[in-house]
Amino acid sequence: MSSDQPRRTRKKGAVKHDRAGRADVPQPDAEPKIPKQPAAKRRMVKPPATEPPDAERPDQRQPDAEQPAPQQPEPHQPEPHQPETHQPETPKPRRKRASSGTSAPSGFAGTAGIPTAPDTQGSPDTESTAGTSGTASTSGTADTEATDQRMAQVLQLIVDLATGRLDARLEPSHAHDELDAVITGINMLAEELQEVYGDLESRVAERTQMLRQAQSELERLALRDPLTGLANRSLVGDRIAQALAWGERGARFPAVLLLDLDGFKTINDSLGHTAGDAVLVEVARRLSTVARPMDTVARLGGDEFALVIPDTTAEQAEEVAAAALESLKEPLLVHGRSVWALASIGIRVGAAGETTDMLLRDADTAMYEAKTSGRGRAMVYQESMHSMVQRRLRVVSELGSAIRSSELRLVYQPIVDLASGRTVAVEALVRWHHPHRGLIMPDDFIPVAEDSGLVVDLGYWVAEAAIKQVSEWQSLLDDDDFRVYLNVSPVELRRPGLSEYLRDNLERFGVPTNRLALEISETALMSQDVAGLLALKGIEELGVSLEIDDFGTGYSSIAYLRQLPVDTVKVDRSLITEVTDDPRQRVFVGAVLQLIHSVGCRAVVEGVEEREQAEVLFDLGCERAQGFYFGRPMSPEAMTSRLALQARLARGPDGGR
Ligand code: C2E
Ligand code: MG
Ligand code: MG
Repeated sequence: MSSDQPRRTRKKGAVKHDRAGRADVPQPDAEPKIPKQPAAKRRMVKPPATEPPDAERPDQRQPDAEQPAPQQPEPHQPEPHQPETHQPETPKPRRKRASSGTSAPSGFAGTAGIPTAPDTQGSPDTESTAGTSGTASTSGTADTEATDQRMAQVLQLIVDLATGRLDARLEPSHAHDELDAVITGINMLAEELQEVYGDLESRVAERTQMLRQAQSELERLALRDPLTGLANRSLVGDRIAQALAWGERGARFPAVLLLDLDGFKTINDSLGHTAGDAVLVEVARRLSTVARPMDTVARLGGDEFALVIPDTTAEQAEEVAAAALESLKEPLLVHGRSVWALASIGIRVGAAGETTDMLLRDADTAMYEAKTSGRGRAMVYQESMHSMVQRRLRVVSELGSAIRSSELRLVYQPIVDLASGRTVAVEALVRWHHPHRGLIMPDDFIPVAEDSGLVVDLGYWVAEAAIKQVSEWQSLLDDDDFRVYLNVSPVELRRPGLSEYLRDNLERFGVPTNRLALEISETALMSQDVAGLLALKGIEELGVSLEIDDFGTGYSSIAYLRQLPVDTVKVDRSLITEVTDDPRQRVFVGAVLQLIHSVGCRAVVEGVEEREQAEVLFDLGCERAQGFYFGRPMSPEAMTSRLALQARLARGPDGGR
């Protein structure tokens, strides 16, 4: 009988095979018949029992023991079943099909529905032959049913694997027939597939983990300041919005504190960026200590920090601000040097209907006010500050043209020798005569000029006007030591070319260099960077002397004073306000004067408004003084008259001849 002619009627659900022995796809109506396997981890589908349950495992059995007597092979029957093919894991070598003579892929050829192992089910031909006997017929039917059942299991296995249950396996029967070869092959493939899949899964898990890490790192970068680890601008915005929302739902509204370090740029420029970073990290740490767990401390960028205090009052916010300022009073040790990172703080307390942007903007305005009104303090935002900001913006836009169109004027305040009462120097002070707003004092535009950089052009204008003025006073100046003092801001000093500009103008107006002196405030001097110090050196080499202004308001150390090329120190007026009434202040001022003398400098005290003050200062050994008592800042004409009178008096009635 040809293998092309199936001998048995195929049952529903059985697998149909083509000529080459390839299994057809099961008919759809066959599917419900396939017993569904529950999804299990790894399971072995048991083959139908073809032997007693107590039968030994095939690999333990003797080839002939307990096996039904083999049917007599047909003459064309291929080689009898070999015992070694009992190993279930190894696909059996394909048995030759005498009738077809076609070959198929190893282990899968002539598979389902074509039982071949004579020791279990008999060959089709054997079955055919045996079909004449009643017993053989019964056993043939049983074989067919068993085969169909196994086929169903194979199909179920394929379905299981196809639906992703890669742990599904089917235990080959003891028949060791071609179907078993298929089963073994499928099992092996499934094993391989499961391994590959497992490998793939672990790689996917690994990559997923890497992705998660990258994502959380990205989130951290997106919400945290990398230097300090504090919240960044984006996160602080969220926190303010959240705290405002709590306020709307019945809690108290939040306060936003905006903190900017005073003179941080100088620390950065003079000590380097690494030191600057160390300062920022330490400031962040100290600010974190004053915050409650529910507060948010953030670095908005540069030297600007923010504190968000939810559910609070203006008073509580001011207390936190005071604590923050207090925490910064202790000096920081950076590269073996003590530096102070003092700060100015603006406070804005939220209210119903307000937004994050409003709070941040107004806290910034209040912070700016704190800076311009003396630094190192905290100020709560008020409505009036908004108009100040507007005014400041207007000043910046108008000051540039004011410098060019000569709206600026210089006034001169005398500096007198306390022993003789003579005017031995003058300080040039700038005024802005605005065409519409009238006289504007320097405190109202110098800080804005410094912020905007306009102070450089302003300084050049002042220097040129003052040098020209001294050239006009030359004939009145008998005293070789007479000087005109100019105020110079750190921004001007940092810009290269100041000493060249001064030298050119001194030459142009024929003024000896020793007639000119520059005043630099103590805080500005303390925070000089390399460029600033080089500029000081260049100015000193030019022969122009230097003075420390507003001494006593900063944190000069005696050692630092010694290093600077200064010859005069001007004591701030805040130090002498009570000098006549308070003996302790007198002792203190006396000590300050001694300190100045000990480093070889001359002392000037400014802000002397009363005769008694002048007398006390003279008694304490002060050489020079400046203040309303000796003369208010005056026009060049008024100063010319004063100097002329002084010269006339000095020269006597005969004009000094
Ligand atoms: P400063 O250099 O400390 O100048 C002294 C200030 O004290 C002047 O204020 C002066 O009018 C004032 N003053 C003098 N004697 C007395 C006194 O007895 N009592 C009181 N209450 N005040 C007195 P002014 O002219 O308003 O200048 C303020 C500041 O503006 C100056 O302080 C200086 O830092 C700055 N400044 C003035 N002119 C210039 C300039 O041309 N360039 C730069 N960069 N800054 C300038
Ligand atoms: Mg001054
Ligand atoms: Mg001063």
